[in-house]
Amino acid sequence: MRIEVRTQSREEMVDITRDVAGAVAASGAASGYALVYCPHTTAGLTINECADPDVCADILAGLGRLLPREGGWRHAEGNADAHIKASLMGASVRVPVRRGALALGTWQGIFFCEFDGPRQRSVDVTVTLSDDS
Ligand code: ZN
Repeated sequence: MRIEVRTQSREEMVDITRDVAGAVAASGAASGYALVYCPHTTAGLTINECADPDVCADILAGLGRLLPREGGWRHAEGNADAHIKASLMGASVRVPVRRGALALGTWQGIFFCEFDGPRQRSVDVTVTLSDDS
């Protein structure tokens, strides 16, 4: 199942937990794993705190300190920082599904991490049933 994400700025973390939960519910799976996959080279996925938005602001600020946009990079497109940040976050997350719902921790959310927006993006969700379902 595909989730569409419209990002609004160059760097942004978009909470897509509800969309992923909806895809899991639509799959009808009771027990298994949800693989959430980002098919882009300048965006990634991560799981982190969804209660305080300052956490996402700090993650983006911290990545910006580590990897400035003008960092003397070789990549001619001018977005090398975005490629590196995307690799640091990773292209996928995998979340257990129990009783038809995402088994996330209380404060956890699934975030689409945009590093070279704004753009129209997509995320793929694949639910795999486990043997004990
Ligand atoms: Zn590039």
